[in-house]
Amino acid sequence: MSLLPLEEALARLLAMADADAIKEMESVPLAEAEGRVLAKPVVSTLDLPPWSNSAMDGYALRLADLQDAPLPVSQRILAGQSPRPLIPNTCARIFTGAPMPDGADTVEMQENTEVLDDGRVRFLEPLKLGKNVRLKGNETRQGDMVLEAGKRLGPVELGVAASLGCATLDVFRRARVAILSTGDELVEPGLPLGPGQIYNSNRVVLSSWLKRLGCQVIDAGILPDDLARTREQLGRLDDIDLILSTGGVSVGEADFLGQALREEGELTLWKLALKPGKPLTCGRFNGVPVIGLPGNPASTLVTFGLLARAYLLRRMGVQSVEPLTLQVTAGFNWTRVGDRREYQRARLENGRVMPHRDQGSNVLRTAAWADGLVEVREGKTIAEGDQVNFIPLSELMA
Ligand code: AMP
Ligand code: MG
Repeated sequence: MSLLPLEEALARLLAMADADAIKEMESVPLAEAEGRVLAKPVVSTLDLPPWSNSAMDGYALRLADLQDAPLPVSQRILAGQSPRPLIPNTCARIFTGAPMPDGADTVEMQENTEVLDDGRVRFLEPLKLGKNVRLKGNETRQGDMVLEAGKRLGPVELGVAASLGCATLDVFRRARVAILSTGDELVEPGLPLGPGQIYNSNRVVLSSWLKRLGCQVIDAGILPDDLARTREQLGRLDDIDLILSTGGVSVGEADFLGQALREEGELTLWKLALKPGKPLTCGRFNGVPVIGLPGNPASTLVTFGLLARAYLLRRMGVQSVEPLTLQVTAGFNWTRVGDRREYQRARLENGRVMPHRDQGSNVLRTAAWADGLVEVREGKTIAEGDQVNFIPLSELMA
């Protein structure tokens, strides 16, 4: 069976996500909207700035009044005040953000002026019409679409909405994701480790990551390697948008999740041209979409980061789901031509990317060391100095 290229897997997952896109929306206060996805565009009901104002502390004047003579100061305007019209042949003391008085068209910053003993102001530099004036509506006009539907709301987007006076925003509801860890060997941290057992690390990786993506996490516990228990635990899940499991997809393993899906749902097994992270399960149980990630922690990281993350964001209405990818200079040579795309845990050092020596799919520690994942494309070699793609982990986790 030929390997499924990453782009093709992503395209399929996104098509599935679009078909199951979450439609319900809710109105949330601005302060609670961080990380949510806009369900309706934000259209400005006002001009920004609402009135022309000064960009500097200085003096507002009508440029045509400026001959050789210094100008007397006829008023003082602070931010938050409403000025009187400017008296001809005078200037106004003005501060940053204060409204321009009618009749004034230019501001000179105070550093370029001299206040004479009689209080008049001499302008020391040639001035251009409109200098240091922020015109009404030059940032945003009433009716402008400022934030598109499908945009994720971060601190900056919330600030933009606030600047337009929005107190609430219409967002899609969060995706409810049930996490299942499969494997008889798994033990939760805090409990003693028996023979042959390991601690469950995937669970906390996924639960904290999902929360960062704006999902609601339902912890469905550890699934023992047992078909009846698998069926029973899956059957108990209610009101869920996605069942996300780890483990139990390696070739040759007793794959009980897969078996349960085959018997009572739908199952597709993908063999991805991806390393780490070759096997991926896609299916449904009782109509609920299921994604089964490989269990090795680095494989879980890469398959979630490059595939399941995008799928979930798209389910929640996010249009732009591709992580920002940087072009960086390789600080390493790669001579082995592979048939899978590799993502190596790597660091940026002085603008060059260096992979860690230990890329074992069971090793999570080197991912904690890494700044991101460097891409080694299938069928390609890399020479030191080549440009390569690098995806910061901070980008994937945001
Ligand atoms: P599996 O796909 O179930 O064969 O798992 C592959 C490897 O990942 C095995 O060595 C498992 O012990 C390990 N593994 C599976 N699930 C987890 C988990 N939740 N936390 C840490 N390691 C895991
Ligand atoms: Mg297992």
